[in-house]
Amino acid sequence: MTGARSLPSKSGIVELVKHLSIELIERYALRELSEVEIQRVEKHVFSCSECQERLQEEIALAAAMRSSTVAKIKKIVKAEKKRPAQR
Ligand SMILES: [Zn+2]
Repeated sequence: MTGARSLPSKSGIVELVKHLSIELIERYALRELSEVEIQRVEKHVFSCSECQERLQEEIALAAAMRSSTVAKIKKIVKAEKKRPAQR
């Protein structure tokens, strides 16, 4: 008796591609990932249009957030400067 029942082949497991987690995508957009992680994300995105779309959304969102934050800071700085010793 050969106890070898049909185990899931290794290639079968590899086929089951895990998508990038939203956390990883977010952090990629915010540039908080290490070199290795960045490479992993880019490698996956290269062959996965689903994650590519999500990544592009996140990057656009991060850029919008960044620019709106910069605009807010500029406004505050301007307001501070505009305000002379006026009581
Ligand atoms: Zn994917």
